[in-house]
Amino acid sequence: MDEVTLKSRAVVFAICAGAVAFFLAVLATSAGGVQLDNLTRALIPAVVCAAMCWASAERSIAGTAGAIDAAIERLAHAAEGDLASAIPPEIGENVPQLARAMESLFTQMTAHLDGVQRLAMFDPVTGLANRSNFRATCERMLATPPATARDTRGGLFFIDLDRFKVVNDTMGHACGDALLGMVANRLRAVADSIAREPDGVPPLIGRLAGDEFTMFFPAIGAAGDAAKIGCDILRALAEPFDLGGANVSIGASIGMALCPEHGVTLTELMRAADAAMYHAKGSGRGRAEPFSVELAARIAARATLEGDLREAIDRDEFALVFQPQISVDHGRIVGAEALLRWRHPREGLRLPLTFLDCAEETGMIVDIGDWVVDSVAATIARWGRIGIEQRLSVNVSPRQIDHARFFHGLRAALHRARAPAHLLELEISETLAMQCSDDVLDAIVQLRAAGATIAIDDFGTGYSNLSRLRALPIDRIKLDRSLVAPVADDAAARMIAQAVVGVIHALGCEAVAEGVETQAQVDILRIIGCDVMQGYAIAAPMEESAFVAWSRGSVRRAVGDGAVLAGVGWRG
Ligand code: C2E
Ligand code: CA
Ligand code: CA
Repeated sequence: MDEVTLKSRAVVFAICAGAVAFFLAVLATSAGGVQLDNLTRALIPAVVCAAMCWASAERSIAGTAGAIDAAIERLAHAAEGDLASAIPPEIGENVPQLARAMESLFTQMTAHLDGVQRLAMFDPVTGLANRSNFRATCERMLATPPATARDTRGGLFFIDLDRFKVVNDTMGHACGDALLGMVANRLRAVADSIAREPDGVPPLIGRLAGDEFTMFFPAIGAAGDAAKIGCDILRALAEPFDLGGANVSIGASIGMALCPEHGVTLTELMRAADAAMYHAKGSGRGRAEPFSVELAARIAARATLEGDLREAIDRDEFALVFQPQISVDHGRIVGAEALLRWRHPREGLRLPLTFLDCAEETGMIVDIGDWVVDSVAATIARWGRIGIEQRLSVNVSPRQIDHARFFHGLRAALHRARAPAHLLELEISETLAMQCSDDVLDAIVQLRAAGATIAIDDFGTGYSNLSRLRALPIDRIKLDRSLVAPVADDAAARMIAQAVVGVIHALGCEAVAEGVETQAQVDILRIIGCDVMQGYAIAAPMEESAFVAWSRGSVRRAVGDGAVLAGVGWRG
């Protein structure tokens, strides 16, 4: 459809005016009737009138149309982002209301856009660059290092507040936000003092998230300067903060990475500074630690271990070994502890302490623990079929037991394997026993009610609360190796071990000595009242077939000639 333009309206207006003039002329000249003659005469004023109307309309329309064309063009530029250029003057001359409306529209849009951009680039709590702005600006700075000193390097500082969470949780989020604002101001003060030094270049400061801040110095002279800046930041953040009259100390841990030594891209530097920060946290907090070659090696080894461990679960590379526990009373085997081993494809047999931390931190312990529980249940059932009926204990770590499904899985595994629950013993560490939730405690009570027994492992390494210990549903307490090792040589250690055994008996539990290595220890532990012993002096952990043979032999020996066991020095 054709558009109705101002010009076409002018044409219609001129035609209408001409037509009216024509009819009036015809009316005025035709007294007796309409003749061809007065019709043609009427045409002359009609055409003159129409032409005059057209000419006058055309003049004002031409000015307005030009202004509107200019407005359309200006709006098109605005749509492409140009809000700054002036409004063309012909718009104001011909249609002043339109010019004023456009002016006000552009001013409002500019203000809104500024606000949106500020929100998108700056952290509203501290006014510092937010994560994406910090990244983008830092990448630009890395691409164009300042030419102040020849030996220039960049330095990235990762700053994590040590006790911010406590303040946020106890004093509320408003206080937390105020504290973050104060931290930002102290970082700005450090930045200002560095920028004032000769050759000083102001750093970029950002808040990545929560209580994590970053500072990027585009020009740090030497590694020593980075350490000094780290100390300056630490000192600035170590001073207490005044939060509504309360003095609050939070402190910080800082990781530092230098460009190009520790990375040339922002991603590399971030990773290095982050690792150094975790190292600072792990080394006691309140420190500034540089990234180092050793840290890099540790990170690489850890990444390899994590990858290998993930594959190990799929490739079924785990195995169990079994270490016997014997009764001091009659010298016979009364149980065994299942201990995890990893048949590593390149490194051979790996002991649990070399991979358990990694498994716990990554959560892989849950899958590994499931495998252990399944294998222990299957082993109990298998031994039952060949006439070995003794309890088998299984170790569980805190991360495993935290999962509600753990106990469910354990019972299901016993049920699947048709293994009686009374032959299963759960070993939980002293620390876990002291800290576990009521839910976990309930689940332990239920498992015990179903027939399983419970042992407290590594007793003497944690901080036990005796009244809690009394309330726990436990059957056995295992004296840690550190209590057992000195008993033969140290009278005080002997008395402590004896007192601990007394406490264990008072709690109504059996005392198990673990890590028993020598005949002298065996003799003393027997005298001070231990009920069960486990350790190299009796037998080292062994594979299933060796264990089955050992177990049969030990029973025969115990029954046959008093209580001489296994030929490893046991004397009944
Ligand atoms: P633990 O529960 O205290 O296990 C006893 C550790 O002492 C075992 O080390 C065992 O081989 C070792 N040992 C036994 N007798 C002696 C001795 O006479 N002298 C010395 N020096 N050591 C002895 P292992 O097998 O390397 O296990 C280390 C730890 O790994 C265990 O300490 C346990 O906490 C954990 N662990 C083992 N298997 C598992 C498992 O299946 N799951 C979980 N979550 N942890 C496990
Ligand atoms: Ca254990
Ligand atoms: Ca232990």
